[in-house]
Amino acid sequence: VASQLNYWDWDGSLDRITDRLGQLFRRAAMTDPPTFINLDMEEYHDLEITIAAFQRLLDDPEFFTNEAGIVLQTYLPDSFAALRELVGWASARRQSGGGGIKIRLVKGANLAMERVDAAIHGWSQAPYETKAEVDANFKRCLDWVLRPNRTQAVRVGVASHNLFDVAWAHLLGRDRGVSERLDFEMLQGMAPAQARVVKAEAEGRGLLLYTPIVRDDDFDVAISYLFRRLEENAQPGNFLRSLFDLDPAGTTFAAEADRFRTAVASRWEVSSRPRREQARPAPAAFGAGRDDGSFLNEPDTDPAVASNREWAAALVTQRPTPVEAELAETIGPIDRAFDRARRAAATWAATDPGDRRKVLHAVADELARNRGRLISCMVHEANKTIAEADPEVSEAIDFARYYGDRALDLDGHEHARFTPLGVIAVVPPWNFPVAIPAGGVLASLAAGNAVILKPAPQTPRCAEIVAECCWAAGVEPDVLQLVRTPDNEIGQHLVTSADGVVLTGSADTARLFLSWRPELRLFAETSGKNAMIITPHADIDLAVADLVRSAFGHSGQKCSAASLAICVGGVYESPRFRRQLVDSVQSLEIGRTDVLSTVVGPTIEVPSNKLERGLRVLDDGEEWLVEPEQRDDQPQLWRPGVRIGVQPGSWFHATECFGPVLGVMAAVDLDEAIELQNSSEYGLTGGIHSLDRAEVERWVERVEVGNAYVNRVTTGAIVQRQPFGGWKASSVGPGAKAGGPNYVAQLGTWEPTKIGDGTAEEFLAAAAESDERWWREEYSLEHDPTGLFCEANVYRYRPLPMIAVRVGPDADAALVKRVLAAAAVCSVPTLVSMTDTESDVDFIARIVGLGLDRVRVVGDIDDRLRRLAGERLIHLADDPVTADGRLELGHYLREQSISWTLHRFGNVLDARNQAADRRR
Ligand code: FAD
Repeated sequence: VASQLNYWDWDGSLDRITDRLGQLFRRAAMTDPPTFINLDMEEYHDLEITIAAFQRLLDDPEFFTNEAGIVLQTYLPDSFAALRELVGWASARRQSGGGGIKIRLVKGANLAMERVDAAIHGWSQAPYETKAEVDANFKRCLDWVLRPNRTQAVRVGVASHNLFDVAWAHLLGRDRGVSERLDFEMLQGMAPAQARVVKAEAEGRGLLLYTPIVRDDDFDVAISYLFRRLEENAQPGNFLRSLFDLDPAGTTFAAEADRFRTAVASRWEVSSRPRREQARPAPAAFGAGRDDGSFLNEPDTDPAVASNREWAAALVTQRPTPVEAELAETIGPIDRAFDRARRAAATWAATDPGDRRKVLHAVADELARNRGRLISCMVHEANKTIAEADPEVSEAIDFARYYGDRALDLDGHEHARFTPLGVIAVVPPWNFPVAIPAGGVLASLAAGNAVILKPAPQTPRCAEIVAECCWAAGVEPDVLQLVRTPDNEIGQHLVTSADGVVLTGSADTARLFLSWRPELRLFAETSGKNAMIITPHADIDLAVADLVRSAFGHSGQKCSAASLAICVGGVYESPRFRRQLVDSVQSLEIGRTDVLSTVVGPTIEVPSNKLERGLRVLDDGEEWLVEPEQRDDQPQLWRPGVRIGVQPGSWFHATECFGPVLGVMAAVDLDEAIELQNSSEYGLTGGIHSLDRAEVERWVERVEVGNAYVNRVTTGAIVQRQPFGGWKASSVGPGAKAGGPNYVAQLGTWEPTKIGDGTAEEFLAAAAESDERWWREEYSLEHDPTGLFCEANVYRYRPLPMIAVRVGPDADAALVKRVLAAAAVCSVPTLVSMTDTESDVDFIARIVGLGLDRVRVVGDIDDRLRRLAGERLIHLADDPVTADGRLELGHYLREQSISWTLHRFGNVLDARNQAADRRR
């Protein structure tokens, strides 16, 4: 049950949980003799609802006389209240002729994973922070429950290897005459000698020895269970670690005895308040203005808190109000909007960056206050589930704070001065209808630009609420305007009127925009065809879970979604892999997104074109492992499909389908898998599941994606932690990553400032010095500013394979020299082309032949080159050449984020992140 109540789960409804429990109970009751049920609450902290479900089921006439058991983890402070509740209820049930229950008291086995969960989400940890408190609560529970009136209806299991605790429980039981109602329980293989002694001492009642029982095929599951227990028991601070030198005369014994006495003495003082108390709708605590410059990610809503689920349940019933902005049917309103924006832009650009930052931080607070409205709008307008919509609000808040901070970076460059572009058009998609418009708008504002926001036609209200939050926080209405246009020549007029365009959409749309206006300053995040490699060294169960979540979260409609699984060697044919994948896909809850239990909602539109083909047509060699199925006569509602046998170079291997369909490919070895993954024209996200360090290192060196994920899901990038953006055809323009340190700085022009007397020698010397410093202090380093102990999030720069330098007729020789020197600092080979010796057509043909997609331009070029480059999505970096190393080196490097899970079930595997430079 615990494993089913996971992150997707906003529906903590009593009915549903009781229902699931009932299925387990019935299955168990069919065996002979009937299995005794233990309900374990790992990783699900709402004890109240779990207990209510347990009670409801046992009160049902079907099970009224049955005996069943429940485990209480005393490392959760609320377990004491739960114990009292259960004992009161069980006594009443017994008195009315019902069966008894058993409560197994444990301290709790998942501390390590609890810590990971808390760190990743920015939540407080559900268990107590110290072992002393855990020990004290365990004693409190024992002392309270081991009394004759309480044990009448309740058998108590003491499941511990801590001999002090076992002995104390034994003595309490004997002194109070309740020994008959007390069981001692230990785990197979952990402390066999002690188990024998306890068994002998337990006065005929024996010892319950727990061991996993599995089918032959699943033997590894039993091993991994026992191994996890052993690993947990051997952690510092835990009793079993001390077992081997427990000489009563020694210091270890004295320390354990001391702990025991302290715990007994403080047992009635220890807190019993739940530690997870985040209550929506109040804005999260991090929202309060932090002026020390530090950045913390806004935590998502915690679905384990009952009041948060109630809040969510109310939200999904609220329909958003209709969009207020009128649709522009002619170009008149667009021209007027640009006039107003141009007039307002000057004042905003002249506003001190510190003041712009303040406004953006106020926007963050406003967004936090409007979390509920934004979520319900996404649920209804964009068919997002609450599990997908909630993190999007956190991301928008993060953008406001992070980009606000980046405004300060624009000042104080040594050899260059920043001017905003003017008026930026932000053109977001419908699939992230809050975070992406917010990101584009807030970055543009941080850089001092005015903004025209053109919402996606499918999701205008989501974008409008974002704009309302900006206005409420003090952004002038002329500095940010929302203009709705259809995607026709009116939209075209809007796009071509802007001084810069921030687009998130398909590569085809980027190409279209550039065909309208080749000199357009376009900053585009485009398509992806993302794959996850699974090697024989992977934990198959975890790999499948991550694959399914990456492929079908938001019904597969994320540009980061995994669309291919590339199975290495035996994984492809592995019955276990296939069974898990089929099970996992078939058990996804499909339905409307205003139903909280839904995991896969309707697609935004009726599948057509590529997606429709992806859902309906198989190609040579392919078959359905899970056939996609349109549900309930609703053309937008599909059970996701999985096609196996996808061939290298086939249609599905190359084509982005943007919906609930996944392809599975086979590769003989890792090298072939990497080749298949890299053969895409796109390079947005990519993943690998392997527990072999050498394999992962090899992959990380070679994978050609902007966002690389190791042993985790490939979606859900978080601001600063995993700056987001792709390589190759997944990005058009200068390519700084969203939510990364360079994004804001690209939304303007950097003009060189005069150095010394303005001689070429001085310029080149200053440039060399600056390049060297920026290379040393920034570009050559791996950064992990978040510094989580359980996940390395490395942000780094990779040299381009080669750069083309196009030199115009009037180009200054010193500038050309400076550019070549910068490329050399980054170890990037150069291809130099002069406009007077090579035609634009020949030049483009040559670089296309070499697979290059970036050109550094020195001097003037003409429109024909721009047009040719635009058609092929080649970025012409024609920014002025400055002596500033920070700016110039960026042209020769690609940014990459690697997010690497460093733990297994909470236990840290290696310390890669400690080597990384942690700048906070
Ligand atoms: P001790 O060493 O005295 O205590 C270890 C406990 O202290 C652990 O819970 C650990 O998390 C906690 N601790 C250690 N350091 C810290 C710290 N710094 N801050 C906070 N806490 C700390 N666990 C479950 O969760 N569910 C079950 O269903 C379950 N069934 C079990 C069945 C049996 C038969 C046994 C023997 C154990 C079971 N456990 C279960 C595991 C149990 O919860 C304990 O984790 C394990 O037995 C170790 O606890 P201890 O009392 O033996 O030893």
